[in-house]
Amino acid sequence: MEKDIARVVVDEKQIKDKLIELSKTLINDYQNKEWTIIAVLNGSLVFLADLIRLIPFSVRLDTIDASSYGDSTISKGEVNIIHNFKIDIEGKHVLVIDDIIDTGNTLKKVLADIKKYSPASLKSCVLLNRSGRRQSKIKPDYCCFNVGDDFVVGYGLDYNNKYRNLPYVAVLNDECYRRNCP
Ligand code: 5GP
Ligand code: MG
Repeated sequence: MEKDIARVVVDEKQIKDKLIELSKTLINDYQNKEWTIIAVLNGSLVFLADLIRLIPFSVRLDTIDASSYGDSTISKGEVNIIHNFKIDIEGKHVLVIDDIIDTGNTLKKVLADIKKYSPASLKSCVLLNRSGRRQSKIKPDYCCFNVGDDFVVGYGLDYNNKYRNLPYVAVLNDECYRRNCP
């Protein structure tokens, strides 16, 4: 995979340090509350796994599947949401975790969907924020890093379902996008 990387956008050390800082904020905001995290699949999985292991008290966890990108790097605009919650959300303090907010359409739809289940509170947390292409008036409550316009992969984020297991966030070589490597 290394040969496909044009440049690293957020390295492992930056991620590690930021997650410690974020976990302290979340511990402060959610301790003594019945905290429920809903992770947006699949891109948030690596972020989620590292983050929840920094939390010293019990966290309830479920997932929601939201897809808009298909196999390309351009958002199709419409968002498909699939979930089958196995835990109760009503009256719980829910935090939605996603990999990146771009147009904002995904997070907007996910939050609207979860709201129907009457949580006690509903907030959002993203690893990456790209504010230049926002279409919805939406601002995540917790955000780790701002990124530019280039499509990024790694630390959970994919390109055609590859590169999710890179331990950092990076931009691929142009050639990679053209010939769909590796
Ligand atoms: P939005 O609906 O905000 O435009 O996009 C949110 C979703 O699009 C994210 O959850 C993510 O799955 C995908 N996405 C947006 N930008 C990128 C990117 O730069 N790289 C990858 N791999 N996925 C992205
Ligand atoms: Mg996503």
